[in-house]
Amino acid sequence: MERLQKVIAQSGVASRRKAEALIASGHVTVNSKLVTEMGVKVSAKDVIEVDGVPLTQESFVYYLFYKPRGVISAVKDDKKRKVVTDYFTDVPERIYPVGRLDYDTSGLLLLTNDGDFSQKLTHPKHELEKTYVAKVTGIATNTTLKPLRNGVKIEGRKTAPAKFKVLSADIATKKSIVELTIHEGRNHQVKKMLEAVGLPVEKLKRELYGNLDLKGLNPGTYRQLSKKEVSSLL
Ligand code: URA
Repeated sequence: MERLQKVIAQSGVASRRKAEALIASGHVTVNSKLVTEMGVKVSAKDVIEVDGVPLTQESFVYYLFYKPRGVISAVKDDKKRKVVTDYFTDVPERIYPVGRLDYDTSGLLLLTNDGDFSQKLTHPKHELEKTYVAKVTGIATNTTLKPLRNGVKIEGRKTAPAKFKVLSADIATKKSIVELTIHEGRNHQVKKMLEAVGLPVEKLKRELYGNLDLKGLNPGTYRQLSKKEVSSLL
């Protein structure tokens, strides 16, 4: 048995909050009886209708997207900037991004309509590794990056130990390329961690998410994940 609002949300008709509003405003029937209170439990045998239209269980889909820079990790934007779902106009399911990449960050972003999957992957306890490549201002060396191995304080809280590699450092231009692997997902975390060791980020790309990479994709393109890939993330 599941709560009615959850079942409606999972069918893809509406978000959880919108499903509650639909129930409260008298749009939902269960076995032809109007239900307006929250918390009613339903099973697969119950016939749920929204405005007289029976719910059909939407199947879950999972996409791996190469997000370009200059795109918001959301399904809509108040300022009318480009959002990630603008690239998925052929996909009928109501997908949304799993976590976020900054507007100016490119790279690997998952999108799905599976709320449980998304919640699991973004939960702080889910220690999936994500690898980023950053172009920074300054000369990166193993010594300058060393504090990241033990964790640095950002906003008063220490980050979990990270792995890093200096890919290049150019003394003439004072620019370096650094690879950083973390398993947390705090706001602007990579930028803040590198800033904390004196290496402000100019450009950032997420290359790996667990064992998934961007092979075969160009910015703005995507592919579906296989069942095996989905379970490898959980
Ligand atoms: N860390 C950041 O600072 N930005 C991102 O987009 C992702 C991780």
